[in-house]
Amino acid sequence: MTLSMTAAQLADALERTGHAPHNTGALSMLDEATIAFGAKSAELGEAQRRFADARIAHLHALAPSGGDTDDAWRQAMQAARRLAALLRPLGDARIARCTRPAGWGPCGLPLDEDGECRSAIGHLDTP
Ligand SMILES: [Zn+2]
Repeated sequence: MTLSMTAAQLADALERTGHAPHNTGALSMLDEATIAFGAKSAELGEAQRRFADARIAHLHALAPSGGDTDDAWRQAMQAARRLAALLRPLGDARIARCTRPAGWGPCGLPLDEDGECRSAIGHLDTP
């Protein structure tokens, strides 16, 4: 569901995560859903990578031998807000995703510029 959200919807969701500290599941889904938008510009690509890095760092901080979880969360939220600010101007933009069947349901990978799916795992309808 997160994967079919528009850029503006993802921006909203990123900002909402600030109200649910340590919700790693939400961050993980938003990371996955925003990766393809990272290809839209160098700036977005960098903001997306920073968000991904900050969310992983937060995940590590939550481990028993981890670090300052509140600080890690703050940094993840800072990265989330920056990413949200860059996504918002894209408005209704959506990532076109592959709808061909794969083992777990629709493939769901982002399509190339030419509308092709480059899944390395393959599809069930492949002859
Ligand atoms: Zn596919």
